[in-house]
Amino acid sequence: MDAIIKFDLVLRNDSMRCDSCDVCGAGFWEVGVIAKSPDNVFVCGKCLKHPDEIDARLEQHAADIEQRATELMQSAQKIRTLIGRIQTLPSFKEWRAAENDCKTLEQYCEIYWDGVRAEECDGEGPAWGNGPEVVAVTVAGDEIDVPAYFADPHRF
Ligand SMILES: [Zn+2]
Repeated sequence: MDAIIKFDLVLRNDSMRCDSCDVCGAGFWEVGVIAKSPDNVFVCGKCLKHPDEIDARLEQHAADIEQRATELMQSAQKIRTLIGRIQTLPSFKEWRAAENDCKTLEQYCEIYWDGVRAEECDGEGPAWGNGPEVVAVTVAGDEIDVPAYFADPHRF
């Protein structure tokens, strides 16, 4: 077994912003102080709160990474099965023409983002009005209100 690692509490600097807790995987973007070893092993405050769970958290974190690695390998294999099979695509010219003629999509984006901004500002944004128009649609037997652009079959 390797030597026990010692930690100091340090201020998180900008270069650590994209690092994460080696014990649990949590990010540091909202944290001011973290525990750091001389060889850059990081531990977050949540893990310091539960010192009796460190080894279990390490095992869970390692298992999570292995799971992601497995999923990435499956994605790579799936992508590789496409080699030699993508033969009949629309032309770039066709795509460009469709891209230039997709006012509905532009309108959709405009309305959508205006709606999001209006929601974030409680409808008080300067030119954002009160968000998008809402219509009722039936989904799986239930009637729900959705923004009108979701109900527009031509939005794409
Ligand atoms: Zn942690």
